[in-house]
Amino acid sequence: MTDLARLVSDIAAEMAACSERGTVASYIPPLARIDPRQFGLCVVLADGTVHQAGDSEQPFSIQSVSKVFALTQALGKIGDALWRRVGREPSGTPFNSIVQLEREQGIPRNPFINAGALVVADVNLAGHAPKLAIGELLRFVRYLADDETIVIDEAVARAEQETGFRNIALANYMRAFGNIRHAPELTLGVYFHQCAIAMSCRQLAMAGRFLMQGGSHGRQAARVVSPQRARRINALMLTCGHYDASGDFAFRVGLPGKSGVGGGILAIAPGKASIAVWSPGLNANGNSMLGTLALERLAEATGWSVFAPSGQA
Ligand code: GLU
Repeated sequence: MTDLARLVSDIAAEMAACSERGTVASYIPPLARIDPRQFGLCVVLADGTVHQAGDSEQPFSIQSVSKVFALTQALGKIGDALWRRVGREPSGTPFNSIVQLEREQGIPRNPFINAGALVVADVNLAGHAPKLAIGELLRFVRYLADDETIVIDEAVARAEQETGFRNIALANYMRAFGNIRHAPELTLGVYFHQCAIAMSCRQLAMAGRFLMQGGSHGRQAARVVSPQRARRINALMLTCGHYDASGDFAFRVGLPGKSGVGGGILAIAPGKASIAVWSPGLNANGNSMLGTLALERLAEATGWSVFAPSGQA
């Protein structure tokens, strides 16, 4: 067993023994039902080696982690014009906050809060029927992960739709400012379905490889985005990927990361690893409690950090 393989399985064993696991999201029944004792970790290295432990093959609702893939897709469609409709600053507010939108004329702070992700979904919807826009995102995620088995959990999508009153309010509010260009229910349909994509830690870590590898896909030379765009997406993940706890995540882990209320986190050690972790119990900020702790342990033990001198292990 290599040192890293041992580390990954040691971390999973430590997390399995934790009694303080946070609280599972309860706003929709399909998430409220998830067993909080689960924990999965998968590390994909730049040479393609995969280390995984715990429930790393168990699909879970990726929720807001999907915002990374949707943003990548929207930038591919309209490039920097996106930044006229959404900002690039940390919000310092919870994921579903509406307060800044009035002061800032319907322009969301960043693409990773819900308001920003709705604008991104609206961009991805342009020129498509909602079903086709969702299909395009799902195909993109499957391509990134090299895995055709990834699906959308329709029960989760339905439940999001039935209970998403704050998101409905956000979309309508931005429609009033002209920053949602389609009928809000169509844009919301795209957003609710992207939240309902189900992936395992292994699939998620595989899908994140392009962000570890300066924009290229897998071991083939195929380019998903330019190196500059990969750097910029990582920068947004670092500064905005954990809502109003983004600073704390940067302090504790030191890597770009995007969390979701399903308990998943995708973290990127540029040039070194694409990492996915999942534990459904959340902390007070809506981020996976043990997922964050596991990433902290991994970063500490490996020295992976965007703030470390380059070349460090
Ligand atoms: N479906 C959730 C919402 O839009 C996603 C939030 C998250 O994962 O942070 O409210």
